[in-house]
Amino acid sequence: MSLKAVAIPGEHIKINTDPYTEPFWQKAKQGILTAAQCGACGHFRMPPTSYCPKCRSQDTKWPDLPGTGTVYSYVVCHKAPFAGIPDFTYIPVVVDLDGAPGARLVTNLFDIDPEEVTIGMKVKVEFNPIQDDWMLPIFRPA
Ligand SMILES: [Zn+2]
Repeated sequence: MSLKAVAIPGEHIKINTDPYTEPFWQKAKQGILTAAQCGACGHFRMPPTSYCPKCRSQDTKWPDLPGTGTVYSYVVCHKAPFAGIPDFTYIPVVVDLDGAPGARLVTNLFDIDPEEVTIGMKVKVEFNPIQDDWMLPIFRPA
């Protein structure tokens, strides 16, 4: 049995926000997963952008999503992503978000043996504290 993949230590993660991304992070602080949705045509887009690529509307909604999804792609990493800390196993993953057709989130999958990860497996969100009191959405097996 190999070691389980873990969450990247949150104290090493710092984010920057802008008016187009901050609603995502504000909802994460409340334990809610969201995605940018066009207020005019309903098209979902992630990462958030200043206008809809389908209809060019600048009206953006941030609906509450169920927090579940499906693994679209992943890699297994065994080296620490930062200098000066011991190596550990972590899994960058692309998740198709339930409730937001077409929206995919690049995140991490944790609490799983890397040999058990499969494309198409169901996952659910958790929120990991990071720098500046923000919360990072990461996923575990559902
Ligand atoms: Zn649109």
